[in-house]
Parts: sequence; C-alpha cells; structure tokens
Amino acid sequence: MSALAVPPERTGFLNTYRRFPLNIVRGQGSRVMDDRGRWYLDAFTGIGVMALGHAHPEITAAIHAQVDALLHVSNLCHVPVQTGLAWRLGHMYGGKVFLCNSGTEAVETAVKLARKATGREEVLCATGGFHGRTYMALACTGRYQKGFGAMPSGVRHVPADDLARSVSENTACVLVEPVQGEGGCVPVALQGLRAACDAVGALLIYDEVQCGLGRTGVLHHDPAPHVRTLAKALGGGLPLGAVISEVDPFEPGDHGSTFGGNPVSCAAACATLEVIERDRLWERCRVLGLRLRSGLEELGLGVSGRGLMLAAHLGEDAGPVLEQLRERGVLTCAAGAQSIRFLPPFTATEDEIDEMVDALRRS
Ligand SMILES: *Cc1c(COP(=O)(O)O)cnc(C)c1O
Repeated sequence: MSALAVPPERTGFLNTYRRFPLNIVRGQGSRVMDDRGRWYLDAFTGIGVMALGHAHPEITAAIHAQVDALLHVSNLCHVPVQTGLAWRLGHMYGGKVFLCNSGTEAVETAVKLARKATGREEVLCATGGFHGRTYMALACTGRYQKGFGAMPSGVRHVPADDLARSVSENTACVLVEPVQGEGGCVPVALQGLRAACDAVGALLIYDEVQCGLGRTGVLHHDPAPHVRTLAKALGGGLPLGAVISEVDPFEPGDHGSTFGGNPVSCAAACATLEVIERDRLWERCRVLGLRLRSGLEELGLGVSGRGLMLAAHLGEDAGPVLEQLRERGVLTCAAGAQSIRFLPPFTATEDEIDEMVDALRRS
C-alpha cells in the first residue's frame, strides 16, 4: 500500500468508496495535481463530469459572476439563469425541462413522469444498465441491491436486444442508456425502440447521464426518445441533473427539489452548453475517439464504446493495470473487473490521447 493510502477506518467516511491513494488538490485543462505537486493526465474526468477539462475559463467566469449575483432563492420564483438553461436545453433537444441535482434524481423524475403520463407501472430496463443508487434508480440498475431490502415493484430487466419485442400495453416506459457506461461502454441497438413504444403508448427514456452532450460523437442518439436524462457533464463540475420531455403530465406540487436547478450550477451549465454547441465538440469527440480506439486496438486490446467513451478489455484483472497507469501519470477507472474505461475531456489534444495509449502500452 502506498504511504498515502489511508485505511478506511481512519478517514471518517462510511466505507462506500475504494479510493485511489492520492490527494488531488488542483486541476487545469486535462490534468490534475496531487498534494506533492505531481500532475496526472485525467483520462476519466471524474466519470465523465469534467467534459471541458478542469478550470475551463468560460465556466469558471460564469460561476464567479453567478456567485456574486445570487446563490439561491427558490423554485417558487423565476430565476433568469434557470430559465435560460431550460430554454437552451429545450432548444437543443426539444421538450420541457425539469432541473434536479444528480443523475439518480433525473432517473427518479423520468420514471415518475412516465408512470403518471401513462397510468401504467412497468419500467422495462436493459440488463447491464446503470441508472443510479436511490431506490427506484437502483431497482432499474438491477445490481448493487444486496442487503438493501425490497426494491420498488414494476421494474423488469431484459437483454437490450429484446427491449423492443418486450414492450406491451402494460409498459409505462423503456429506460435505456444509448451507450451503457458502468456496464463497460456497451452501445445498445436503439433501432425500432421508439416505434415499439409509440405502438402501445409507452414512453422511451434515454438515460444520457454519462453518454450525453456529445461524448459518444453525436449530440442526438437516433431514434429520438420521448424523454431524456442528463447530469454528470451538464453542470460543468457542479451538481446538476435534467430531464427533458416531450410530454408533461405534472401539476404543481407533484414533484420538486429544493436545490434543483441551483443558479450557480445553471450558470456553469449554460457556459458548458455554449462551448459544446459553439465549438461543435461532439465532432471533436468523434475524431479523438477514433484516434484513441485505434491506439488501443494497436495494443491488441478489444475495445468497445463510441466516441470518447471507450473501454479497453484486458482479459485480466484491471486493478494492477490501473495502478501502473497511475504511477505513469494517467488517472482512470475500471469498467467491470477486467476493463479500463477512458472518458477523456472533449478538449483533450491529440498528444494527450497518445499519452494515454503510451502509458497503457508500458503498463
Ligand atoms: C452516473 C450515472 C447515473 C447516476 O448519476 P448520479 O449523479 O451519480 O446520481 C445514472 N445514470 C447513468 C447512465 C450514470 O452513468
């Protein structure tokens, strides 16, 4: 164990994370620095959160300005920065917006919306998916449930390829990640899903919490869903989740969130979306993704995923390899026991992508 590793019983935290033996104190661009002044290339961006890199000047400036103007008032008032974000999201994706604080809350909201809109119970999910850790989201995730008692009823899992033919008159919604993240960067075949849902009046929900906002090389996954969830990269590093929906079954009082759509998070999100749209960064994700993929394939590894959301399948335990990557100055995380995930910033350079591949070659 490295000298920096603090035993779990000494941290004061509940034992929920297996942490890297690092104290990270600073971030700039594609890199983060530890308390000893060593810089690391950030190849996983806090699981896809820091999509525009660390300390992006436009995001930082937007946050500073909003901190000086207003931290919080209430969702009982109109707040221009929130309205602006909802307008932007609605314009990008088509639909009405609910703002919350996280991915799991966005999923909870989307499922509530689908059940209320359809008057039905069944939530159809793909095996291998990940949708969060609160009870309904956990029920939809289908794993990590041991010891936590009864899950909410009405959730059914089928292999992703069987989703379309499993939709019925009892289905409230199909909830699926266009590219499964925690499941190991696995693209899901979406063709026919929208039509299957429309045929029986069910809603198609894309959980784009990890794969959204251009990371997969496209801004829109086809066919278009009725509802989508966003979080992770949306807040530019601050907590923010969103649901964007073609249908609105809610009445005032049905649903809400005290902090949802916090003005500072919204300011960061507006800046994030502005940069992504202005610089067409999904195209950059596609180009860099092809480079990363071919680099990984040249190492003889199986690669899955799309754009800058890739997993390299090692065929051996990923733990020691992650540790060696860290020693060589590259931070990333696993995707399952034997795979390494790459979620680099959209703003990475070609050289930084090559550096990631190089570090893996030597590991
Ligand atoms: C991370 C993730 C979530 C949960 O998001 P939190 O912000 O951690 O609650 C939900 N869905 C997907 C696809 C995710 O990757």
